[in-house]
Formats: sequence, C-alpha cells, structure tokens
Amino acid sequence: MNFEFDDDTEAFRQYLKDFAQSELAPHYQSDDREGRFHEGLHKQLAELGLFGLLIPESLGGQAAKYVTSGMACEEIARADFNAGWLVTNSLLLSDIINTHGSEAQKKRWLPPIASGEQVPAICLTEPGHGTDAGALEMRAERDGSIWRLTGEKTSISLGMHAEYALVFARTGGPGAGGVSGFYVRLTDKEVSRTAYRDVGGRAIGRASIHFDGLPVAAEDMLGAENKGFSTVMQGFDYSRALIGLLCIGSGQASIDEALEYSKLRHAFGQPIGKFQGVTFPLIEFSTHLRAARLLSYEVLWRKDKGLPHTAEGAMVKWWAPRLSHDAAHQALLTFGQLGYSEDFPHAQRMRDIMAMEIGDGTAQVSKLIAARQLLGREFAP
Ligand SMILES: Cc1cc2nc3c(=O)[nH]c(=O)nc-3n(C[C@H](O)[C@H](O)[C@H](O)COP(=O)(O)OP(=O)(O)OC[C@H]3O[C@@H](n4cnc5c(N)ncnc54)[C@H](O)[C@@H]3O)c2cc1C
Repeated sequence: MNFEFDDDTEAFRQYLKDFAQSELAPHYQSDDREGRFHEGLHKQLAELGLFGLLIPESLGGQAAKYVTSGMACEEIARADFNAGWLVTNSLLLSDIINTHGSEAQKKRWLPPIASGEQVPAICLTEPGHGTDAGALEMRAERDGSIWRLTGEKTSISLGMHAEYALVFARTGGPGAGGVSGFYVRLTDKEVSRTAYRDVGGRAIGRASIHFDGLPVAAEDMLGAENKGFSTVMQGFDYSRALIGLLCIGSGQASIDEALEYSKLRHAFGQPIGKFQGVTFPLIEFSTHLRAARLLSYEVLWRKDKGLPHTAEGAMVKWWAPRLSHDAAHQALLTFGQLGYSEDFPHAQRMRDIMAMEIGDGTAQVSKLIAARQLLGREFAP
C-alpha cells in the first residue's frame, strides 16, 4: 500500500493548489454572478497543461496518469468548482478520442483541445432519453459520401460555448447497438443553441443544441459504425472518479473553512469549536469525505493499472456528489447567519455540486450499475 502521490505529482499538486487559491478562488463567485467564465481563464488552464493531461505528448499533451488527472480536478475544484468542471469535461472527451480515434483523427482533434483553442462538448442526452440513452432518437443519415445529423441534444455542459462536440446519433436499428459517435463542428449554420437558466454551474453554459441536417464527413465518425454507445459508456467508468474528486474538492473546502471558523467564532464565552454539537458533524463529514476521496483515487489507480473499476466508479458516482453537497450545507450552517449570505461560497458550492447528482448519471442508475457488477448481469432490471 502507498497513500502518497509520487514526487512529481505531489510537486504539481502543490503548484496547482497555490495557483488555484490565488488565481481562481477570487473569481469563483463573480463568474457565477456574471453567468460566464472571466476573460483569460481558459488560457491560464491551458498553459498549465490541464486540458492536455490525458493527451499524448506528441500531440501537445502531458500523457499524465489518471491519478494525476484526478488530483488536478480536486485541486482546481477546491478553489473553483466550475473551472474544475471545465477541465474534467475536456479530460473525458480527449481520452475518448485518444482511446477510440484513428491516428489521423487524433492528430486533427487532440492538439486544439490540449492547447485550449477548442472547447469540446459531449452530446448524448435528448429531451426524451437521459438515463435510457441507448434509446436516443437523433438520426444520422447517409447523403452520398457524407452523413447528415438531425435532431435535438439537451442538457449539454458547455453547450453555449463549445466549438466542437462528440454527438451520438442513430445510424442503425433500435437500441444501443444502432448508435454511432461523430465529432462535429458546432459553429455551422445548421446548428442552433438555447441556453438553460440553471440552479448552479452558471458559468458552464448548459444548453440544448438543435441539429438541422448538419453535414458531417464520413471520416469524422469516431470508432466503428453502430459502436458509439459502448465507446462512450466505457469512458464513463473512470470519469465518475474525476467527478467524485471534483465534488470532494469543493465540499472539503467548505468543511476546512468551517473548521477554521469554529476556532474564531465565540459564543457563551468560548470558541464554538469547543462545542461538540459544532465539531462532531464537521468531523463526521471530514471522515466520510476522506473515505470517498480514497475510493475515488482507487478507481483511478485501477484505471492506471488496467484493473476493472466499473463497480468502484459507480459507487463513487452515487456517493461523492451527495456527500459533498451535504458537507457544504453543514459548513453553511456552521457559519450561522453569515453562511446564508452570498458573501460566503457555501450556498454556491451546494448549487454547483448538485449538478453532479444528475449529470453523467443519477444516483439510482449508478447503484444499478454497481449492483449489476456485484450481483451479476442477470440481476439487472
Ligand atoms: C448539470 C448537468 C450537466 C449535464 N451535462 C451533460 C452533457 O454534457 N452531455 C450530455 O449528454 N448530458 C448531460 N447531462 C444530462 C444527464 O446525463 C442526464 O440528465 C441524466 O443522465 C439523467 O437523465 P434525465 O435527466 O433525462 O432523467 P431521466 O432518465 O428522465 O430520469 C428521471 C428520474 O428517474 C430515475 N430513473 C430513471 N431510470 C431509472 C431506473 N431504471 N431505476 C431507478 N431510477 C431511474 C432517475 O434516476 C431520475 O431520478 C447533464 C445533466 C445535468 C443536470
């Protein structure tokens, strides 16, 4: 057993932590109020190599371990959950392309993601199909040598900002076996977008995206025809740990701030940190967050080692977002009346973290995945 990062990862963590606290934390709440990321953020994150962590060095990336990418998500989210979400989204998509793309596709698509030139999105969910994504209706139809994409994708993270997207559409018969993935440009005239007014994640710009016969070259299909669904689902196993660490970083920040506050705030002639009613809930959350963090890193360690991690990833996905949300809530209460003010970040953290109780799969479906792994496929409903 070894509970330490290697020396390089630890040095990078310290650097990221300092960077995030000095450069990102001051914008976390103002970006939420503005409903967009502040100027220069994308460039800063790209210069740190964060979008390219899972991209080969020959294509402008860092070729980092999955554990390192999780550490980056955690440290960035500790200061700014939404900047961490931005990074997580690019990590997932770039890794799908790197795993399933042809050499020519990787050369075209990965360098602009690593350099931060292009913000990509993942378009799977539709108005009629979320959890049951394999039933999606969007059509890709052959038109001579090209495909044409028609339909609506909904609830797309970064949907208002992304220049490119991996879009899943039906190319074959019913069910998950008839779905293919296409990497497409979103700036063409056949694409239109509608913004959501969201509870949290406001800088992310979630959107519905309409495709009205968008022409796509045959060579822009990612992976084999009708194999798109298994491609993306495979990617989602370890990304659940990245999402877990995103949430844990943010929830832990609130707990750390509440512990500090409990030393400073006095009531009845003593610091409130002397009251067990104040400290016990904070200690309980510290314990649970620590355990969820270790499970998240175990998933990424397993991915690095090529070991199975589907059940562990699903466990993190149902647990970490809810736990981290509740931790931020407990921290808010520890600050008393001050916590209820937007001068403090706890309520925003609750709103932001809550996104991950739904995005990338709800708690119910995550538990179904874990149950299928532990009990066997014959116990799937
Ligand atoms: C902030 C945010 C960001 C997102 N970003 C993206 C993105 O970038 N790209 C993308 O493609 N999608 C994205 N999504 C969509 C997300 O993946 C879906 O919302 C999610 O998969 C659930 O689908 P749904 O909302 O249609 O709910 P539904 O599938 O309609 O489910 C409704 C309720 O029923 C429950 N339920 C459904 N089936 C079962 C079952 N078999 N057993 C028990 N309970 C069940 C669900 O858990 C849920 O509580 C995002 C969502 C959010 C909130």
